Amino acid sequence: MEQTTSRTVIITGGTRGIGKALALTLARQHCYNLILNYRANEAAAQEMLQECRSIHPHVQIVRADVSQRSEVEALMREAYTTFHSIDVLINNAGVNIDKPLQEMTDADWDRVVDTNMRGVFLCSQIASSYMLQQDQEGIILNIGASTGIRGRKNGLNYCASKAGVLVMTKCLAFELSPKIRVNCVIPGSIWTEETEKRHAYDDPQLLHAKEEQIPLKRIGTPEEVADVVAFLLADKARYINGQKILVDGGEFMW
Ligand code: NDP
Repeated sequence: MEQTTSRTVIITGGTRGIGKALALTLARQHCYNLILNYRANEAAAQEMLQECRSIHPHVQIVRADVSQRSEVEALMREAYTTFHSIDVLINNAGVNIDKPLQEMTDADWDRVVDTNMRGVFLCSQIASSYMLQQDQEGIILNIGASTGIRGRKNGLNYCASKAGVLVMTKCLAFELSPKIRVNCVIPGSIWTEETEKRHAYDDPQLLHAKEEQIPLKRIGTPEEVADVVAFLLADKARYINGQKILVDGGEFMW
């Protein structure tokens, strides 16, 4: 049976790219209270708030850097104060700073690993402390990356952090079950403003070369990732736990 009551979902990095598609997909279901977190881009967050509220009224934006414990504590506190429960955490916030090994600085390493991996640790620890005290079951959904399994040139910090997210998913599932289900959705090549710039998809030759590597012959959309996440949050997915699900058009079959 599908949920009919309002559950509170926190989406880290929920104002742009894949996080934005997640928020809009869940808003259209009208059964979730949404907390959309972001780090710095206030204009994008405000625009997203208006767009989401035009679909569904129970939406709030909260600025917090997921790599900072005090800011994550404040984020969870505000979510709980606003909607009186924390039911779902989607650890989506992520950054890339790709560089050749010899050019990668300590700051490049720290920024990426602190956001992508420490952020998952802090958000999961603090959100689950609320979930464990509630009667209803909780869900943690991590967003990984296929390069966290297969690696990528110039992506030492990013790939290591996403490999960490994958194994953290399993550790969290062991530790938090049966009260909280934990899964990981792994996007492949997904079209966002950030990836369009980073991979120069506006160059038709580069885009074609990339598409040729994907059995479905196209880059995925953020909405295609959001649809899988929405399924994993629904009651129909109640027996799926500790798993990774790739959404990549078959680019990486593992
Ligand atoms: P975007 O760069 O488009 O958006 C990132 C979002 O995360 C923004 O809302 C940003 O906030 C927020 N954010 C960044 N750092 C922090 C932080 N320290 N604290 C809180 N929020 C933060 O990313 P994508 O949509 O492309 O990626 C989303 C997730 O999917 C990431 O985990 C990424 O690694 C993963 N992924 C993406 C793929 C793709 O092809 N796009 C492929 C594989 C995985 P602000 O706007 O304020 O900067």
